[in-house]
Amino acid sequence: MKTDEHDTDTDLGETPAMNGLGVSPGIAIGPAHVFETGMVSVPEFRIAARAVPAELERFQDAVGKSRRQVRRLRKRATGLAESAAEELGFLLEAHLQMLTGSRLVRGVEKRIGEERVNAEWAVQAEISQISKSFAEVSDPYLASRIQDIRDVGVRLVRNLTETPFHAFSNLPKGSIVIAQEITPADTAIMNPDVVRGFATQVGGAEGHTAIMARSLGLPAVLGVGDLTESVETGDTVIVDGVSGIVIVNPDAKTLAHYEWRRKELVKEERVLARLKRMPSVTRDGVDITLQANVELPIELKSALDVGAAGIGLLRSEFIYMNRDDLPSEDEQYRALCDVIEAMDGRPVTVRTLDLGGEKLSMALQDQFADSVNPALGLRAIRLSLKVRSLLEAQLSAILRASAKGPVRILLPMISSSREVRQVRQILNRLVRRLRRKRIALADPLPPLGVMIEVPGAALSADGLATVSDFFSIGTNDLIQYALAIDRGDEQVADLYDPLHPAVLRLIQFTTEAALRRQIPVNLCGEMAGDPRYTALLLGLGLRDLSMVSAAVPRIKKRIRALDIGEATQRTRHIMDQWDPGRIATMLDDFNALA
Ligand code: PEP
Ligand code: MG
Repeated sequence: MKTDEHDTDTDLGETPAMNGLGVSPGIAIGPAHVFETGMVSVPEFRIAARAVPAELERFQDAVGKSRRQVRRLRKRATGLAESAAEELGFLLEAHLQMLTGSRLVRGVEKRIGEERVNAEWAVQAEISQISKSFAEVSDPYLASRIQDIRDVGVRLVRNLTETPFHAFSNLPKGSIVIAQEITPADTAIMNPDVVRGFATQVGGAEGHTAIMARSLGLPAVLGVGDLTESVETGDTVIVDGVSGIVIVNPDAKTLAHYEWRRKELVKEERVLARLKRMPSVTRDGVDITLQANVELPIELKSALDVGAAGIGLLRSEFIYMNRDDLPSEDEQYRALCDVIEAMDGRPVTVRTLDLGGEKLSMALQDQFADSVNPALGLRAIRLSLKVRSLLEAQLSAILRASAKGPVRILLPMISSSREVRQVRQILNRLVRRLRRKRIALADPLPPLGVMIEVPGAALSADGLATVSDFFSIGTNDLIQYALAIDRGDEQVADLYDPLHPAVLRLIQFTTEAALRRQIPVNLCGEMAGDPRYTALLLGLGLRDLSMVSAAVPRIKKRIRALDIGEATQRTRHIMDQWDPGRIATMLDDFNALA
């Protein structure tokens, strides 16, 4: 789109750029806010002498609340396997002691009284002093307790600020967040009205932080080498999520260039938005269903705005994030009803908990030892089948909510038919229980489908199809496991290749198995939202794609320009190739024709 004098490289200006992975398109320009890892950003202020008793009371309330939370966690820990219960019991007992007339509590009270500072500041200062004195003693046991003290400090600050999320919500409007690492849970609490974009030192393009950024429409660049050393709070920063570039304190020419590019992107989005009411159909008349992936309820509006046919993937983790306790069945039921009602008759595919790995709930984090290899550990359906109460509460909530509109149940990280059969047994038992209580359920009951995201599941798709009502192909994990590339690790991001012939074969095999066994199949990994792959996915037989809402218009545009016959023929030729470079060229050449 060469429209005016800005569109040349020479207009870029002189300011050097830092390179990373552009994981969420768009350009954000604004003042930087640098977060230090592991610290909670707290308000700091002095208080009047007469305000001391009230501040002490506020602190005592937070101590009491923290003690109650730890006791609750300790009670829950008794339900674990023996050694885990014992280990966690010791740890939580130590936390309780730190919250009971300890040096920490006394020290904070002293600071409030003598230094007349607010309680959050006093906690932060005391924790930092205790940590320093522990670090000076060369005793490995004491050194390992530093983390416990910090954990207790963070809990106190959270309870004092009454929101765990003070850090992000207190930012000035329009800020760019700069941090070493931002977790998916952090991203979940970023308000796009306040945060304009973010950049981090760590993180890969297909990790959940990246996915969350795309869902919220926040431009983001991850994996930028020296980021936190090169930026200071207050610097003007440009985050170019398209090219994966971060620029600090740009000169006037660079700034003008990026302002112009940002406006161009906004214009382009506006043109695409006009496609909302147009059908998603190929040139030769084949209908393609385009659904939205949703991580957070605030995305429902965008899903409806872009005209998504339904929610193809509701990542239910949002109900479990950023809290110390687990949601009750009723709370889950209400959250699901809100989503189903908002979708107004469009189908909603609810995926059961995919916690573990990089997505952790605080309440559960405290209950399990860290896996040596979290991506291969106790996560997703494995965790749900181990902690049955979790799965039962969730399935029961979904079943009850199914009375409000069309719902499908999707199981993550399935690797064998046995897991599906186990879930079906539990589901049947819950249905009987709910019917006995005369609770309304959908009729027919919601279909039970499985994510195909483990290579072993893809290769045994025929067998899985005999116990599943539908398949949803999760290419994000499928690629990770097929190629042994951590999807969230920027150091190997260049090896994460959706066009690797092994990946394409797994998608092909799964799709064909579903068609053979006559069960519906869709694809909900990030590949679905990238127009580069659309022709190939349709050529492999897929007719239902689910993606981040923002991608729907672009994919629809691509579909309307495609001919299924031609796409299928080109895909056939591509599937005869073994060299990823050749595959990429053949696909890009085909895409360039449209
Ligand atoms: C996938 O793995 O492709 C997927 C859609 O699930 P998630 O990204 O939530 O792991
Ligand atoms: Mg997955």
